[in-house]
Amino acid sequence: MENIQCFRPTKAVIDLQAIRDNVVHLKNMLQPEVQIIAVVKANAYGHGDIEVARTAMEAGATILAVATPDEAVHMREYFPQVGILVLGATPISFVPYAAANDIMLAVFSQEWVEQAAKQNIDRSLKLHIKIDTGMGRIGVSTRDELQQLYDAITAASHMLVDGVFTHFATADEEDTKYFDKQVKMFKDFLQLLPKKPRLVHVANTATSLIKDASLQFDAVRYGISMYGLAPSPYVETILPFPLRPAFSLQTELVYVKKIKAGQSVGYGATYTAEEDCYVGTLPIGYADGMIRKLCGQNVLVDGKFAPIIGRICMDQCMILLPTAYNIGEKVTLIGTQQGVTISIDDWAGKLETINYEVPCIITNRVPRIYSN
Ligand SMILES: *Cc1c(COP(=O)(O)O)cnc(C)c1O
Repeated sequence: MENIQCFRPTKAVIDLQAIRDNVVHLKNMLQPEVQIIAVVKANAYGHGDIEVARTAMEAGATILAVATPDEAVHMREYFPQVGILVLGATPISFVPYAAANDIMLAVFSQEWVEQAAKQNIDRSLKLHIKIDTGMGRIGVSTRDELQQLYDAITAASHMLVDGVFTHFATADEEDTKYFDKQVKMFKDFLQLLPKKPRLVHVANTATSLIKDASLQFDAVRYGISMYGLAPSPYVETILPFPLRPAFSLQTELVYVKKIKAGQSVGYGATYTAEEDCYVGTLPIGYADGMIRKLCGQNVLVDGKFAPIIGRICMDQCMILLPTAYNIGEKVTLIGTQQGVTISIDDWAGKLETINYEVPCIITNRVPRIYSN
């Protein structure tokens, strides 16, 4: 796909080779028959779903997972052949599309199956039973519920138990007590099924990277580390291979001025210069996802740190420059410049959140540009 034309210099540059490497490295450590489900929900964690999906499949992924039916429709338009799984809940109104377009759906309610069976479908609907083993989000959580759900699906014509799965709440933590409990419950529930479905899958990134290979089952759901980020600080310390972050955020200085000691910058005049200094203006603001809490965060100019000063505006913000620079000077907000790096984890620390959230909050106004 051609990169889109954009005039504003603010852009997220996505390194597709990094994604390729992160998938190939995982593939090399999986048991030979295990499939990789590339998790590309939420616009591929903000990286751009179509290009990430294509790259992940070139590197060895065979199935795409999304969170919502609309994301599945979007994927299907670009990838007519590949397996697509919706991880979240789906309304009954989506059933005819899912059957006609071979979309795999998560299922966890007998009533849903009974409603779905009344829909006008001519091809088999592939269902993945979700078992809630402790995440407390969606899924059947008792043996009876599982039995009844399974029976309802097998009783319906044009419905197939294609998969069974669960999701772990603490796979990225050092303490494995809760995790082990979830594993045991899943294995016990699996025994109740009269026939093993085609795809049993439980592993998220953390599980596939640091847990026993037997938990790979038929497929692993690879999310955060496909993008080059560790699922948690703990997993970061025991990674089986080095990750390559794919996301960087770039812009340029659009204005530079010298201000005198005592002059202020931005709404509320919250920043006042203590001495004469150079201030640069960046064309990025909270409407791009650079929320006001990032005031004080460093950016990189000429390989040097420069802090954001004053309040971040909707479309612009100001930085304190180490010295005078020209308009057009490259500024890196996330990424590496001259060997110096500001990481997504640095932003997550500043924002008191997890790395997952950071690329997701960079809005659609910031074009995603792809490098190979
Ligand atoms: C988002 C999601 C994943 C991917 O999680 P990572 O920690 O990014 O690997 C896997 N499974 C389910 C059900 C999810 O919702």
